[in-house]
Amino acid sequence: MPALEVATRSGRVVALDQKAVRAFGETLDGQLIQPGDAAYDDARQIWNAMIDRRPALIARCASSRDVQRAVAFARESDAVLAVRGGGHNIAGNAVCDGGLVVDLSAMKRVDVDPGARRARVGPGATLGDFDAAAQRHGLATPLGINSTTGVAGLTLGGGFGWLTRQYGMTVDNLTSADVVTADGEVAHASPDEHADLFWAIRGGGGNFGVVTNFEFALHPVGPEVFSGLVVFPLAQGRRVLEGFRDLTSSLAEDTNVWAVMRKAPPLPFLPESAHGSEIVALALFSTAGAEAGERLAAQVRGFGSPLGEHVGMQPYAAWQQAFDPLLTPGARNYWKSHNFRELGDGVIEQALTFASRLPSPQCEIFIALVGGQAARPAPDATAYAHRDANYVMNVHGRWETAAEDRPGVAWAREFFDATAPYAAGSVYVNFMTEDEGARVGSAYGPNLPRLKDVKRRYDPDNVFRLNQNIDPRA
Ligand code: FAD
Repeated sequence: MPALEVATRSGRVVALDQKAVRAFGETLDGQLIQPGDAAYDDARQIWNAMIDRRPALIARCASSRDVQRAVAFARESDAVLAVRGGGHNIAGNAVCDGGLVVDLSAMKRVDVDPGARRARVGPGATLGDFDAAAQRHGLATPLGINSTTGVAGLTLGGGFGWLTRQYGMTVDNLTSADVVTADGEVAHASPDEHADLFWAIRGGGGNFGVVTNFEFALHPVGPEVFSGLVVFPLAQGRRVLEGFRDLTSSLAEDTNVWAVMRKAPPLPFLPESAHGSEIVALALFSTAGAEAGERLAAQVRGFGSPLGEHVGMQPYAAWQQAFDPLLTPGARNYWKSHNFRELGDGVIEQALTFASRLPSPQCEIFIALVGGQAARPAPDATAYAHRDANYVMNVHGRWETAAEDRPGVAWAREFFDATAPYAAGSVYVNFMTEDEGARVGSAYGPNLPRLKDVKRRYDPDNVFRLNQNIDPRA
């Protein structure tokens, strides 16, 4: 029987006995996928098509026990281990070359207890799965803006979206989690049990083990919310962004507004002549009802002469999917991100300059407003430290072909460099690319020393290293 080669954590490639591999596969409630299997090519694909890796084994887990078996197999064989939730992370750590992928995408269960306002969520659930189940009861918790993103990775890095100003970061709503740690045991992490681990997984990413179950607090939301877009030509960008800055400096916590600069997609509410032209769009969101929403929209319209708009009451779950068509998997993506405490004139100037030279029609610069309840906890209350980041800017380079990589990456990096003098110096760990290992200190900030202590306790051998890694030995 031919041997299967596997990449090890010690940097070697070793042969695995096929019998041992078969025995591992037979212990799984789920499926073990190998090169040559019909499911292999689909199973190794993730959201960012720039990442093209070929794992030796993909354990598509169906249960927490499967995860324990996979972690034990990786430990015993010394195999490089990657953990995949929704497969959306830009850095591509959900998949590895030559190692074992613990693929959680089939563990999508979402159980909502409307009385207790709690949800138990499996590690393969997407934001769309979670929102759909919670909204059946008129409930929600803060999640991100693209419904195909995984709850797991988003939560472990912090998590923010439209509801964050009102209800905090996603991690502020995590009440407990079950974690398969490097020794293969399951730790129930909560404020009362494994409290240090519970602290660390709320912003420290996948460094501490594989979360097989998340429990979240829920809040009454909608089912209808005020939301939509008001779109201006980029030529009016300065007034619009200055208006955005003034508006967001004193916005109610039940309201959120993000700014997006890009080329206009062919949206039905925009004149055809504007399609493909450079725009700045303000995305509006409010849970305060139609009247408050209309007042917000009226204020925003006054920032210029809109090319078009589509605002009004609509189901929260629909708004949570509104950006999906622009964020489909399969394109090549490269991101650069800064946190800002405030939007200085210099940032606005640079944003306008770089938005006027987008290297491809799908590239965009977005400025997300955070603050509100997300700013309330102390920086050391959870591993997510950046409570002073009022704005998170992401330079989203996106295109279809490898030939566009070089100009696209250069554009993103140049813009990132041009805005660095105005930035807070910190970065949202979930927006970091694979080449940004040197920014790990900026991602974990003042919480890095404590994160290292917890890492040493739960994963001293760095079994969970394919992430924005907290090296226990460094
Ligand atoms: P994966 O790539 O599957 O996982 C990312 C990493 O998390 C893995 O490499 C692994 O280290 C770890 N991991 C995943 N699951 C587990 C687990 N169960 N246990 C332990 N470790 C695990 N973020 C926001 O906060 N707000 C947004 O609005 C937002 N919008 C986004 C829009 C798009 C189009 C994309 C691509 C991303 C967006 N993000 C947003 C970023 C998002 O939070 C991260 O990409 C996140 O890592 C995605 O999680 P995932 O489970 O889909 O990714």
